[in-house]
Amino acid sequence: MNVPGIFGSDVFNEAVMKERLPKETYKALKKTIAEGKHLDIELANIVANAMKDWACEKGCTHYTHWFQPMTGLTAEKLDSFISPTDDGHVIMEFSGKELVKGEPDASSFPSGGLRATFEARGYTAWDPTSYAFVKADTLCIPTAFCSYGGEALDKKTPLLRSMEAINKSALRILKMFGSNATRVTANVGPEQEYFLIDREMYSKRKDLIFTGRTLFGAPAPKGQELEDHYFGTIKTRVAAYMKDLDEQLWKLGIYAKTKHNEVAPSQHELAPIYGTTNIATDHNQLTMEIMKRTARKHGFKCLLHEKPFAGVNGSGKHNNWSISTNTGVNLLDPGKTPAENAQFLTFLAAVIKAVNDYQDLLRVSVASAGNDHRLGANEAPPAIISIFLGDELTEILKAIVEGETYKGSKKVDMEIGVDVLPNFPKDTTDRNRTSPFAFTGNKFEFRMPGSKLSVAGPNTVLNTIVAEVLDEFAAELEKADNFQDALDDLIKRTIAENQNIIFNGNGYSAEWPIEAEKRGLLNLKSTPEAIPHFADKKNIDLFVRHGVYTEAEIHSRVEILLDEYCKTINIEALTMIDMAKKDILPAASSYIKELAKTAELAKACGAETDFETDLVKRLSSLSSQTYKKLSELEDVTVKAHEIDDIQELATYYHDVVFTAMGELRAAADEIETLVGEKYWPYPTYGKLLFYV
Ligand code: ADP
Ligand code: MG
Repeated sequence: MNVPGIFGSDVFNEAVMKERLPKETYKALKKTIAEGKHLDIELANIVANAMKDWACEKGCTHYTHWFQPMTGLTAEKLDSFISPTDDGHVIMEFSGKELVKGEPDASSFPSGGLRATFEARGYTAWDPTSYAFVKADTLCIPTAFCSYGGEALDKKTPLLRSMEAINKSALRILKMFGSNATRVTANVGPEQEYFLIDREMYSKRKDLIFTGRTLFGAPAPKGQELEDHYFGTIKTRVAAYMKDLDEQLWKLGIYAKTKHNEVAPSQHELAPIYGTTNIATDHNQLTMEIMKRTARKHGFKCLLHEKPFAGVNGSGKHNNWSISTNTGVNLLDPGKTPAENAQFLTFLAAVIKAVNDYQDLLRVSVASAGNDHRLGANEAPPAIISIFLGDELTEILKAIVEGETYKGSKKVDMEIGVDVLPNFPKDTTDRNRTSPFAFTGNKFEFRMPGSKLSVAGPNTVLNTIVAEVLDEFAAELEKADNFQDALDDLIKRTIAENQNIIFNGNGYSAEWPIEAEKRGLLNLKSTPEAIPHFADKKNIDLFVRHGVYTEAEIHSRVEILLDEYCKTINIEALTMIDMAKKDILPAASSYIKELAKTAELAKACGAETDFETDLVKRLSSLSSQTYKKLSELEDVTVKAHEIDDIQELATYYHDVVFTAMGELRAAADEIETLVGEKYWPYPTYGKLLFYV
């Protein structure tokens, strides 16, 4: 495979633009993009025509405005390029107007009350910072999706706004450090975990089909205890899938870099090289889509659910985040010179304070029914937000606060901005896997996002909360008489006041939640508990101040998120009811009948029937219990219809319906361990996880 040759071959990127656009148009387009201005219609016409020619040469017949509605998925509505001529023929046409703006009339997407039906139409607008690309014979134009009133109806618009916010705030700080940077960008490298299972087995499980996770399933004799899958040799069939996937991603200009087996059986990971939060988000959405599509081709099903199987690791999406300047400086890199150190400490202090001040928003940004299974379970970061800095950096910060000399691996005085920080031993920092938010040398790794989540949300929050604290810092420093002294005081104070959020210990230990409570840290255990904090006054003020969300947008999102939670649990409950009623209980009955008949015949022959009679009794009793739990689940699911208030409903689904689901599962899973294999209606965990 000639990788450099195919890389980006399906993307209308710089090189293609340069080659296909008149020089003046190319320059004007680049300028418009760099300045974030509106595209002039004449310019748009020329660009659109060049795009269309390029796409048609690649076999495209259609174009689409590709966008990211609140479902967390991507959406597209295809239009062909055809345009009728007088003589009954058609020509292929694509105008600047069509490129720049679309009206998909996408009124069925969740809008949380932002769009009344009379103004149901939303429109899409090209985001020229993200390249157009070709996918499935269609020219895809990355767009933002808004209502006619200008309210964001998607995940991209707030993300773009938050990137502006952090750009502005960070530049304010950098100016005081004498930097000549003119642009600051937030970057992310999302590590994507996923499961691959055999498609034929998948198609036999209603739970996987309807909900993406198993709702029943007794543990297999073997789990992940041998840790033999993590980084293990990749099986041939999986390797072929990964190779195909890489090739397709590379063609789309996605920097797929690392692939390996993960902790759980049949679990894998793919990590790209990081990019700006906007493009990395687009690319991650595309990656998930291509992962699923490619799986079909190889006879697999790719599961992106956060917890497809109970008792084995769930899947996350580590969000590696940093901020950098257009002069090539990573602002979270400690650097080597005194000036760099001081600047680094300023940004570090800002992140620490931001995470502490807005723990709730970070938690909200990763909240979903699926991710509730991970957060707090013994494999994922707990639902409590804390920061891991590693022992060395923690010691350094302590020395700063106490005004002492740092006595670590290298002896250096620690007066900020004057003396040198020890050269950070980047790779010796203990990579504490139990921390939800860890400093990893030159970036922060936010480990709470679930595998299915769009990273737009968490990065919108990260960009905005850090922008906020940088603004607070800037306001203080700008009025200082002596910058050095003021900075020294600011950093010391900030670190001293935010000690509570720093935790280098084991986040999975039983002591941590108790300790965290003493420290006053939030522990928002479930989605219904977390979501309402989105609309807390301090959070509305924050987002409005930075122009990231309007108050109406926040309220609409709260409603959408709660609604999605309720619907997810409801679908799961209905699926369980269906499975228990139509498959599991009948399977138990058939087996009971078989055993009873056998016992009768055996008895007639004078043979022993302990096995059959014991099992018949146990299975009958478990069936009764399952039946009872099934009826209870049916009742509570029906009662949900009586609740109107969405917050109350979400809490009900969590406290009552979800609990009833757990009880039904426990009874049914026990039946599974007793019923003969050929009577059991579904592929077992053992088959799903180990037979690929
Ligand atoms: P792991 O955490 O599994 O050891 P790596 O350290 O290789 O993985 O990095 C994981 C991800 O972090 C990759 O997507 C990588 O591109 C990204 N990354 C590396 N440096 C940065 C950075 N400065 N900013 C944002 N992401 C980064
Ligand atoms: Mg990592």
